Amino acid sequence: MKLKNSLDFARNLDREDPLRRYREKFHIPTDNNDMPWLYFCGNSLGLQPKSTAENIQQELKDWANLGVEGHFEAKNPWMPYHEFLSDAMAKIVGAKPTEVVVMNTLTTNLHLAMVSFFETNENRTKIIIESDAFPSDRYAVESQLKFHNLNPDDHLLEWKPREGEELLNYEDLESLLDDHKDEVSLLLIGGVNYYTGQFFDLKRITELGHKHGAKVGIDLAHGVGNIQPELHASNVDFAVWCTYKYLNSGPGSLGGLFVHEKYAKNKELKRLTGWWGHNKDTRFNMRQPFDPIEGAEGWQLSNPPILSMAAIKASLAIFNEVGMVAIRKKSKDLTGYLEELVLELGENVIRIISPKNAEERGCQLSIQVKNANKELHKKLSNRNVITDWREPDVIRVAPVPLYNSFEDVFRFVQILKEEMNGY
Ligand SMILES: *Cc1c(COP(=O)(O)O)cnc(C)c1O
Repeated sequence: MKLKNSLDFARNLDREDPLRRYREKFHIPTDNNDMPWLYFCGNSLGLQPKSTAENIQQELKDWANLGVEGHFEAKNPWMPYHEFLSDAMAKIVGAKPTEVVVMNTLTTNLHLAMVSFFETNENRTKIIIESDAFPSDRYAVESQLKFHNLNPDDHLLEWKPREGEELLNYEDLESLLDDHKDEVSLLLIGGVNYYTGQFFDLKRITELGHKHGAKVGIDLAHGVGNIQPELHASNVDFAVWCTYKYLNSGPGSLGGLFVHEKYAKNKELKRLTGWWGHNKDTRFNMRQPFDPIEGAEGWQLSNPPILSMAAIKASLAIFNEVGMVAIRKKSKDLTGYLEELVLELGENVIRIISPKNAEERGCQLSIQVKNANKELHKKLSNRNVITDWREPDVIRVAPVPLYNSFEDVFRFVQILKEEMNGY
């Protein structure tokens, strides 16, 4: 144990890391002495790939030189631009290319998906979410219920952890579904919970939901680019995500939507529509009745912001080159190393909330520091350690396999230990 807890040991792990050279493909923020920050907030905003600027420059140049002709004449024609992203995105989430589309933002896509997949009848009026769902998801769900004239107090059900625990149990989800037999229309779960980092068994959740006659939707904001969700095989009905967290596509960049293949040709599903979801062969004939494109593209509304898509394209090229298998492998090693070092601080001062089993978590560890308050987070920030604080006493730390190193992890735990003195 002690041996592992040394700078030499960490540096050696970096030397042996097959993905080590990818760190150089990112801009790592530095302090005034050119020392890189210890950046562990890739779960909030991923760092910028160095290739992003030139990808955006290309589109600016084509716009300057070609104006509207860029739709067809640009190096990467804007008309089908979103299609250039589908193959790489499909690989990342484990889907067929026709099942995914990059468009809008996460919460918008969640609403669009709920228009199609939250169907009510006399009995089925309820939605289940995790009790600690991300606020935007909760607001979106509550507003959808109200839109259907349903009171969230009665129709929004929560999958809760047991007394004194943070992680969720599948048995409790099943009991909840049994207790509300034939009443649940939709299960909406974060694939990786933003607070605990718990990575759910999507296949199991989907089987449970479907067995009880509910549709299943997954919010992959903290999952995409982090874990391998295998969306197609898990048989979820839909999923949504953003690209600015682990997918490193820039603040407020576009989101993604997955709609399972089984709905690809279903033109009867209710949906909100716009011209970009219309059959590409007749889109410009105008004055045609709406004819949705088969697959996820049929949920598009508008022609998309190309500059933002260019950033996504740059990032996906890196993911495509490395592949999620290699990313996930390093991620488990890196987070496992963090876990080992943090546990050495002693369970009397620290507790890791995230699952112990590496298969049940992504890269993030949520660390509870006993008796600490936000002051600790401030002290870490002052030393250029970028983490995320959740009241009352939890630090979320996300070592990202593409740009964080074992040395980063080692240095972080050293600083944490120093700053924790006194707690
Ligand atoms: C980050 C995040 C969001 C953010 O939604 P936007 O529409 O992209 O602002 C929503 N839900 C979850 C679970 C998130 O982690």
